[in-house]
Amino acid sequence: MRTSPELVPALLLAALLAPLSAQTTATEPVDQAAVDFLKTEGLENSQVMEHLSWICDVYGPRLTGSPNLRQAQEWAKGTFEEWGLQNAQFHDWGPFGEGWRLDRFSMHVVGDNPWLIHAYPKAWSSSLDGVVTADIVPAYRIDAEELASMDLSNKIVMLEEPRELTEWFEGTAHRFDAEERAAMADGTPMPQRGPARAGGDWRAGFQKRQAIEAALADNRPLAILDRGYKGDQGTLFVTSASATNPPGTPRDERARAWTPGADVVPQITLAVEHYNRICRMLDKGRPVTVEVELATTRFTDGDGMQRNVLADLPGTDPELKDQLVMLGAHFDSWHTGTGATDNGCGSAVMMEAIRLLKAYCDSAGVSPRRTIRVALWSGEEQGLLGSRAWVADHVATPGERGAPPAAIHDLWHQLSGYFNLDNGTGRVRGVYLQGNERVAPIFREWLKPFHELDATTITLSDTGGTDHLAFDRVGLPGFQFIQDPIAYSTRTHHSNYDVWDHAVAEDLQQAATVIASFVWHTAMRDEKLPRVGVDIATAEAAAGRR
Ligand SMILES: [Zn+2]
Repeated sequence: MRTSPELVPALLLAALLAPLSAQTTATEPVDQAAVDFLKTEGLENSQVMEHLSWICDVYGPRLTGSPNLRQAQEWAKGTFEEWGLQNAQFHDWGPFGEGWRLDRFSMHVVGDNPWLIHAYPKAWSSSLDGVVTADIVPAYRIDAEELASMDLSNKIVMLEEPRELTEWFEGTAHRFDAEERAAMADGTPMPQRGPARAGGDWRAGFQKRQAIEAALADNRPLAILDRGYKGDQGTLFVTSASATNPPGTPRDERARAWTPGADVVPQITLAVEHYNRICRMLDKGRPVTVEVELATTRFTDGDGMQRNVLADLPGTDPELKDQLVMLGAHFDSWHTGTGATDNGCGSAVMMEAIRLLKAYCDSAGVSPRRTIRVALWSGEEQGLLGSRAWVADHVATPGERGAPPAAIHDLWHQLSGYFNLDNGTGRVRGVYLQGNERVAPIFREWLKPFHELDATTITLSDTGGTDHLAFDRVGLPGFQFIQDPIAYSTRTHHSNYDVWDHAVAEDLQQAATVIASFVWHTAMRDEKLPRVGVDIATAEAAAGRR
């Protein structure tokens, strides 16, 4: 049969979709009894904000390698055991390096017009020797050669130009409206929120900054100041300091701030309004002298190993009980707030979701068919280190990008899917499918009971930057939920205001309820969730198992 050219794509599409539609004609079942119980317990008897208060108010912040995180992990494991979950355990990974804690910090301009500076040291910054007094040097307007010739050993240098501010003409929190959700369903990425960043060529700024840092590598100042690329009105976004590396050190050989023995000059981020004021005073030729106290502790003892926390709600179906459904979130955080929206919220929601499922099983006298495993990862802020280590140890080792895994382990076959939460305190509005269109009709049915709770949207798009990628990377269904951007990139994400008070209780209750339902249905369905990309045969062949 000769076919006209325009007919081919249509035919192809039909052939492609045929099995899908065949597969998805039977509407995916929804366990209404489970959904009803989860809604009642999750929305009327929620404990999520109590979990969050322990995670943040008692154990926050939870920087990877810090005693706080270790204590929080002990608490979480103990709580899982109290709830009657099985197999609660630590999974060790690493060595990571050295932990760190900020013990004491203050900074003032001194002289005939003294004033308090609002600032935070970056994580892993070294201590200063007692209270130091030093003049500020505007390194950003001195060429690198001249800078290298100056004696900076008793100076404090400013790294960047002042940053122009734009006022907020819209709020910091936002809920996706119907139009935005429709656009997302069509794959349109949502724009970053908040005032437009000051113009100027960031690349030139970055190169200049690198030149200054190189000049300082051999000419160590007392401390280095910056003002962050965003943040104002008392909100400072602060993460890790950088270790000093000789210029030209290859990227994969560069010491990180937590690398044992790394030299980490004290690095301090100032409130932009205070940073800009100092710049303007220096521009007028008025010297600025500051007094700084910075005491930090670096935890060099032990083997540098870190750990994840895991626990199970065992499955009982003879055929399926060794298969797994996982839910997780990272437990580590940055250090200037208490790690509430990043990612105490995700951790508290996942703890609450498995508490809800255990409560349902106990009250209905049922148990899941597949085993449900909750995971609280560490090292996420340093590169998804904990989740990637667990996947490599138990599931599969990633191959080249887009290629089948280099090695697969038993759990690769057993794992049906992994659900993650790590986009702040916002309620679940839907799911990113990571390109996996075969789960679309399934998730669409599972979302229907929660449309009344604003969870409606399925998008084929993928999203990144968090732990579901550890699973996605080895060809397994790993999903991050779509969440309302509640003052996340604009206020709390990696900032000093990342605290319990900026978590929204109703949103977290809704999220735990929706996620518990997704996990339950994944544990109860006959088939594992369909996969994209790598089929089992190819993966086994690639990993030499066949
Ligand atoms: Zn996070």
